[in-house]
Parts: sequence; structure tokens; C-alpha cells
Amino acid sequence: MAQVSTVTGMVNAQDLGTTLIHEHLRNQDEAVHNQWPSAGAAKEEPPHEVAPGEDYDIAVREAKAVVDLGIKTIGEPTAMFLGRDVNFMKRVSEETGLQVIPCTGIYTYDYLPQFFLNRDADQIAEFFVEDIEQGIQGTDIKAAFIKCAADEPGVNDNIEKLHRAAARASIRTGAPIMAHSRPASNTGPRQVEIFIEEGVEPSKVQIAHTGDSDDLDYIEGLLEKGVWIGLDRYGLDIFLPYERRQATAKALLERGYADRMFLSADSVATTDWFPRNVLEQLIDAGAANDWTIRIVPEKVLPELREAGMTEEQERAMMVDNSVRWLTG
Ligand SMILES: [Zn+2]
Repeated sequence: MAQVSTVTGMVNAQDLGTTLIHEHLRNQDEAVHNQWPSAGAAKEEPPHEVAPGEDYDIAVREAKAVVDLGIKTIGEPTAMFLGRDVNFMKRVSEETGLQVIPCTGIYTYDYLPQFFLNRDADQIAEFFVEDIEQGIQGTDIKAAFIKCAADEPGVNDNIEKLHRAAARASIRTGAPIMAHSRPASNTGPRQVEIFIEEGVEPSKVQIAHTGDSDDLDYIEGLLEKGVWIGLDRYGLDIFLPYERRQATAKALLERGYADRMFLSADSVATTDWFPRNVLEQLIDAGAANDWTIRIVPEKVLPELREAGMTEEQERAMMVDNSVRWLTG
């Protein structure tokens, strides 16, 4: 029976259950955090920063809340530069019972440190393979998928190298790829093209954040290549308002794509990307609404059921697609 790596060990793929494929238990700049350990994450009441240990408490609170809503597993795409900490994930998982699927990879839109600037795709792939085959950060917790990203700067040289590294690690290990994309910059088609050039089966590739667009021609263009798509930023109205996300989901369900789509929120239990008061201002200004790990089970799914989503479609998106993408 196919198995999937979680932070608490291997589980039978059939036991993943209802899964949110793209949620972050914590997001922090690892270099800043290492150099200035007192630098806080931003989330709750201004003006205070998140106190040491509070990020853990908030992650546990959010994980428990989503378990209570029937979610059994999350895909946790916190890679290098997002502050990946597999022991933090493991503690949250053990305390809450939420199964957490960790990744390897590098999250950047352009910048690479000298270490990776001066190494080629094959040498970078070695690091991803090590995480998948040996374990992450000195543990025996193995990465289950590979993360990479392309955003506003497009698929420039550094980003292309990382996509090729992800592809080569995928081919060597069988691990699937999750590629952060930016539809507004039309990154998806080029990302898919690189993976296919490298010989990766499209069924191993998930183009995250495709749901930031409601251009059905763009979306179907990706689906026709045979990749998975993420409608995975519910609540992040700054990229696409909620109602337009839901209209897109309904249209895609009507066109028969339930077995190619994931629903998630790309939530962060805490983040240090902004000072806390600035984050509050952005949210107050409408950048995000109900943007939590809870939004899909609490709001998105009930509305889609109301709109006629069948049990089979829901099961495909929330249970079976994860198994097929992770083990296919
Ligand atoms: Zn993400």
C-alpha cells in the first residue's frame, strides 16, 4: 500500500483523509530569525509582536480548530526562506493530532544566496533528494513533496534553475512538485514547460495559486497539460476577491475538473513578513478576509454544497486528489 511521509511518520495514503493541501503553521524569515532571535512574528493585537512561544500556541490553536472541523491532514509547503522547521511542525502535529505533510525546496522569486547561486541544478537537486530520502534538518522526517516558486519577476535564470532542480529531484525520487505561481505574470505555462522538458510527468505537478485568476482560458490551458491546480488562497482578497474565487470554483466543477483541483487557503498561523500593526492595517483595508486555515471547511465547502457540488466532487478535491498527487 502506498505510504506518505508526515512529520510523525509514514502513513498509509488511505489514512490521509480530508486534506487541506496548502497551509502554513508558521511563516518567518529564517535568516532574520537566526540573526535577531528577538524579532517577532506579526499576527494578533498591535502593538505587541508575537512573544517567544506564542507562535507555537497560535499554530496549535489553529490546528485544533481545523481538526474540529473535520480536517485530518495538511500539506505544509513551508520551504527554505519561509522558515521551515520540521520539529516545530512535529510538536504541533503531536499536540493536535493534525497530520502534517512536510516539503523540501526553496521559496524565492529571484534572489539566491551565494551558496546556491554558485551551484547548478543537479547540485541543488542533491539537497532536495537528501530531504526526501534521508530526512529533514537532521531528523528522520522525510519530505513528501518539492516546493518551488515563480512570481512577479517571472521565470528568470535563478528561478529556472530551481525549477530544473525540483524536476530532477522529482524524477530521482518520485516525489511530486508544488510550484507557487503568479497568474497575473503568466508564470504557469512556462513553469509547466520546464517540468515537461525535464521529463516530469504532468500528473506529478501542482501549479499552486492558479485560483488567483478567474480567467478560465488561462486555467484550462494549464489543465490541458495534465497538471493539478490549486484554488488555494481563499481569503486573500488582495489577489482575487472571495466571490470571484468561488465563481471560478463553481465554473470548473461544472466543466468536470473536480479530479484536478485542490481547495485551500495558503493561510499562515503567524507571519513576520509585516510588522503587526501594518498587517492589521492591510487586513482592515481589505487585503484579506477570513483568511485562516478554517475558511475552506467553515465557509467554502458549505457554499459549494449549497451550489450543487456533489459528494463525489467534494471527495475528489478534499480526499482523493491528495493521495493521487502524492503517490501517483
Ligand atoms: Zn504557501
